[in-house]
Amino acid sequence: MTRELIQFALHEFENQENSIQNIYENRLCSFCGACILICPVNAIEYHDTRIVINDLCTNCGDCLAICAQNQKERYQTKLLEKESNRKIKQYLSKFKSIPFGFFINLYNCKAIKKEILKQAMVGGATLAILSCALEEKEVDKLIVTEFVVNKQFPSAVSTSSYERLLESGGSKYLPTMSLELLKDISKDEKVDSCIITTLPCQAYVLEKLRKQKETEDLVKKIKYVITLFCGSGLPTREDVEVFLKEKKIETKLEDLKIYREKRKKLWRINPQNEERYIYYTEDGIEYDFSSKQILRTKRLPNCSSICPDYTGIHSDISIGGSNISRNIIVTRTEKGEELVKKAISRGYLKDLKKFNFLERIIIKFMGNNKRKTNREYYKNRFTNR
Ligand code: SF4
Ligand code: SF4
Ligand code: SF4
Repeated sequence: MTRELIQFALHEFENQENSIQNIYENRLCSFCGACILICPVNAIEYHDTRIVINDLCTNCGDCLAICAQNQKERYQTKLLEKESNRKIKQYLSKFKSIPFGFFINLYNCKAIKKEILKQAMVGGATLAILSCALEEKEVDKLIVTEFVVNKQFPSAVSTSSYERLLESGGSKYLPTMSLELLKDISKDEKVDSCIITTLPCQAYVLEKLRKQKETEDLVKKIKYVITLFCGSGLPTREDVEVFLKEKKIETKLEDLKIYREKRKKLWRINPQNEERYIYYTEDGIEYDFSSKQILRTKRLPNCSSICPDYTGIHSDISIGGSNISRNIIVTRTEKGEELVKKAISRGYLKDLKKFNFLERIIIKFMGNNKRKTNREYYKNRFTNR
């Protein structure tokens, strides 16, 4: 990560007023749900990527203290960067992006079961590891993300059902507020342990919650944290509205019905599903937008503009897609390594051994691209002041 970016982030937060509303209004919110989880008086409301603080707020400051977007230490990872870069060079020479984090092993894998491959967006490794954890009784609950009819963004759900897990396959990990679910899970006597699939910023918050005495109970049931590589942040409601305007589509977002379709990407070696959201009007006119299209069109910054983490350095296992129907798996803790090994030895995952040339290019390109976005945002903010 660049020195300029660290300076930018520090400057930005030192000048924030003491409120998560400010994080949200500055488009830095990643909709992780941590503030809602932590607020003692339920003063934070979330409606379709809008955060509102109601009159119950006592200004205690707990929400801002936990928010991943407001953490100086997240931008001061030089040591981590140095150490990890030395190791990552064996695999990715000249990897000069944001920190890759500590890791034990790198795998190149795909799921074995056909039903998982059919549902998966890329190689099905996440579904395969989750199903292994459930069926081998490593955990009794899974926190995943699934599409909800007529909702612009998917929702986080907790489930113990393999069928529901399969159904969730291929969902994008867009704003889901998944951390909010921990409120109920931590009190649920029927749950002993769970595995959460989440985004890098949320994994950071989970680690912070675990380290603090007063919040450790909220996360004590989480046995494994799996993060998905996160390159470009999230299209918010506002982005979709800007997109509709640019495309000269006059219908209001509220008036559109939304359904999800999975399309095969034929150019892939083993064509897999790509999730698309189709919006249609009362008159039945269809618009087919992918989140990539929305993000490409909009020019507004978002959480990725300052985010220092692409791969999820605070997780047990990080997983990225390589677009050739297989996944890159990074194991970062002993228990994460054990779970991946178990998934391979019990026939859930196929270890393709070679971490090949194409994967190296993709991971470098994606990581460096996030860094580039960061720099551009930083430059714009400073030149426009
Ligand atoms: S300042 Fe305290 S009471 Fe107000 S929203 Fe944040 S956590 Fe809740
Ligand atoms: S990033 Fe998370 S903690 Fe911060 S304001 Fe958004 S939802 Fe709340
Ligand atoms: S870009 Fe960073 S802050 Fe935004 S959702 Fe991804 S991991 Fe979270």
